[in-house]
Amino acid sequence: MSLSHEQLAGLSAETVVVASGRPPRDRDQPVNPPIVLSSTYFGTGPLGDGDRGYGRYSNPTWDPFEEALGQLEGAELPGLLFASGLAAVSAALSLVPAGGVLVMPTHSYSGTLVMAAELAQKGFIELRTVDIADTGAVKEALAPAGPDAKAAAMLWLESPTNPMLGIADIPELTEAAHAAGAMVVTDNTFSTPLVQQPLTLGSDVVLHSVTKYLAGHSDVVLGALVTSNADIRAALLHHRTIHGAIAGPFEAWLALRGLRTLALRVERSQETAAVLAGRLSNDPRIESVRFPGLPGDPGHQRATSQMKGFGSIICIQMKPAGALTGADAADKLVGAVKLWLPATSLGGVESLIERRRRHAAEPASVPENLIRLSVGVENVEDLWADLRQALDTLGG
Ligand SMILES: *Cc1c(COP(=O)(O)O)cnc(C)c1O
Repeated sequence: MSLSHEQLAGLSAETVVVASGRPPRDRDQPVNPPIVLSSTYFGTGPLGDGDRGYGRYSNPTWDPFEEALGQLEGAELPGLLFASGLAAVSAALSLVPAGGVLVMPTHSYSGTLVMAAELAQKGFIELRTVDIADTGAVKEALAPAGPDAKAAAMLWLESPTNPMLGIADIPELTEAAHAAGAMVVTDNTFSTPLVQQPLTLGSDVVLHSVTKYLAGHSDVVLGALVTSNADIRAALLHHRTIHGAIAGPFEAWLALRGLRTLALRVERSQETAAVLAGRLSNDPRIESVRFPGLPGDPGHQRATSQMKGFGSIICIQMKPAGALTGADAADKLVGAVKLWLPATSLGGVESLIERRRRHAAEPASVPENLIRLSVGVENVEDLWADLRQALDTLGG
């Protein structure tokens, strides 16, 4: 037999990513699970809960990843894979009842914000966006004063936020949300369960864009949800089955393959990000650096208390350079790198760099001169040398 849920529960996360989801330890069994390509399954008579039934209901290739992610997030139940991070967002938002109030960070992931705003425009939900780092403002949005004020049905958390790296006080906000009668969903994409476990901090549901760190190689698009609440999980599973945003078996297999090295990748990229953030904050051509690991960062204390590291995303804002505006200087920097890859997305083995406002959907409150750096696993000095030569093209 492969390791049981109980055996895995006693192991550290670095071991779980490697040891979970293996086929039975019997002679001549493969050491990796196979990819099962079948749209249907043998069977007669009524379908029960344990039956696979049809390819949209379940696929054996999803199971090892879902089991591993549940373990890593400290959940009592396996996770649920979805076709993309946004498919998972859609399923999670379906838990807001008709007309219910959704409280969401102003700087949530842009696709999440667009989806919530469209639901609100249609009158399906009521949306309140708040600065998630401002605990008092979030509490006010959750349970406004006044006899007719409507309490929230769901608090959406993203911490650190994308791309502003704002840090929410997760334990305090989940407590306030529950007191107001709201469910809490936390997008944990930036941190991974190795750095932050929102369920243990009080969240009801954890969301991942598996596309990013979990799969880790910028070669699949997938999402996932994790919860310890059986009723919530059943509702999310029903949504996946009926709305049909399921993972392809090959993508699910690649995600598990990527997960095997998650601990190594996170360890290396966090270490490198800390070094680079320190050096960038001393560069005269840069106006400001956001990285929760910097002692002067506004989110540093909170991050220290609820995370096991600081992640590997850095945001910098560029100063004007000569005739160039800060935004132009940012574009020039992104155009001048030779090793860093100018591309959107994050969390892969390769380091990526992007001026976020090149996306029309990015909130206007994200500064035009802001560059997001996703630090990969390359050699730190090679990454630094490339950034430095690109910064030197700006003069100064
Ligand atoms: C990328 C991302 C998403 C959306 O995930 P997709 O896999 O692209 O659909 C959601 N949240 C965060 C924080 C992200 O970075």
